[in-house]
Amino acid sequence: MSNRFILSLDQGTTSSRSILFNHIGQIIASSQKEYTQHYPKPGWVEHDPIEIWNTQFETAKEVLAQVENDNATIEAIGITNQRETVVVWDRATGKPIYNAIVWQDRRTSKYCDELKAGKWAETIQYKTGLVIDSYFSGTKLRWILNQVDGAMEKAQKGELAFGTVDSWLIWNLTGGKLHVTDVTNASRTMLYNIRTLSWDEELLNLMGIPASVLPSVKSSSEVYGYSNGELASKPIPIAGIAGDQQAATFGQMCLDVGSVKNTYGTGCFMLCNTGQEVIESKNNMVSTIAWQINGETTYALEGSIFTAGSIVQWLRDELGIIRSSAEVEDLARKVEDNGEVYLVPALTGLGAPYWDQYARGAIIGLTRGSNASHIARAALESIAFQTYDVLKAMEADIGHPIKELRVDGGAVVNNLLMQFQADVLGVPVYRPTILETTALGAAYLAGLAVGFWKDVDEIKKQWAVDECFQKELNPDRVEKLLAGWEKAISRAMKWEEE
Ligand code: ADP
Repeated sequence: MSNRFILSLDQGTTSSRSILFNHIGQIIASSQKEYTQHYPKPGWVEHDPIEIWNTQFETAKEVLAQVENDNATIEAIGITNQRETVVVWDRATGKPIYNAIVWQDRRTSKYCDELKAGKWAETIQYKTGLVIDSYFSGTKLRWILNQVDGAMEKAQKGELAFGTVDSWLIWNLTGGKLHVTDVTNASRTMLYNIRTLSWDEELLNLMGIPASVLPSVKSSSEVYGYSNGELASKPIPIAGIAGDQQAATFGQMCLDVGSVKNTYGTGCFMLCNTGQEVIESKNNMVSTIAWQINGETTYALEGSIFTAGSIVQWLRDELGIIRSSAEVEDLARKVEDNGEVYLVPALTGLGAPYWDQYARGAIIGLTRGSNASHIARAALESIAFQTYDVLKAMEADIGHPIKELRVDGGAVVNNLLMQFQADVLGVPVYRPTILETTALGAAYLAGLAVGFWKDVDEIKKQWAVDECFQKELNPDRVEKLLAGWEKAISRAMKWEEE
């Protein structure tokens, strides 16, 4: 087993990463490339699909080159991706007809309002598990088909393909042979019925989407096809697909009903395994498919927070008070507390549990003595406060308290944030040794499909704790902080509403 590996392709919102894992779940090689974010208008976020593919392909080539001389065998490829981001391409040329519209993009907010006004909320929640919001892919796909010259006509003739980023990568990896997605990505489109496990005709009709553009939907762990000669001389089975948050849930080994993880990346995403049952949220969570393995579908409840780590990037790139994301911790530690400054990071509206497309960011509570450290601290605390709000809503849905939280993602290296998170939640926060749980989850899904790992029991043992954060702050102080947060967020909500 020593030179047999799984290649995980982790196509994230800010970078493309490729990681090789060995049989005991260790990282053998990795490569990462950031790519360009396009903001053509306020509220719009786009990526160039060609750049997505090129950066992903280059990082994959790089990690393969790192083990070239070791007589290494790549047993399978697992794919995980930023979810809800939409690519539409021409089947004949393989060229995208428009930039990828990113999950953060709010351009379809008005149309979503129309759907809500048309009383679609209940049907859509029942069928897809989702809250109507421009976050999900369906309305973005509709926008491209309706707005790009000639797109609808071509779509009706079967000449166009739609995919989330997983589909786009696989199309390219196989030289245009495969047009597939998996159930987890399909469950984020607002077009897929998570109960019948099929594209929903009524919703396709509602949004005017021709079925011919859709990929076929597969399980999260099976051999879908093989990479063509461009990546490696030998074809490699492509054997696992999951949206990034579902992959992280799997990588965190949240296999038991009720287990919960929270990922702190660009956004924050908390998922709770609900087993074979769809729990319909009454508290603004969404129901989603966690994975499908060997014909069995596991569901999850999810709280999606749009802005988390990206507020730190904003401090770096727009405000210029830090030079790197890592510096935020030192800056925040220069003050003892937030000095009653709160930052509401509603840079792309607010997701769960508020679902306010029209909220905008705010820094509030400033006094003459407020400084950059207070703002840095308020930014970090806002990540923990949003997580608190989601966790409380999640608890209300599942009907019992959540006893522990497993965490991962780029921002969990921040000890101040993790400690504050444990303080605010009052439950232990477990940071595992492998933080690349998203990539690891995709590797596990692929490795299971090709027999690299026998079953989940074999991989379950690989999860290990790096650090456990326990609450230290006194409850009165926490209560005061939460009251301040609640007040701040109420000021930022509905800011842009006409
Ligand atoms: P994604 O997969 O969404 O691209 P990652 O999991 O790679 O995101 O996490 C990157 C995010 O983590 C960035 O938004 C970055 O600002 C944030 N981040 C990285 N290091 C730190 C840190 N030390 N403290 C707080 N945030 C951090």
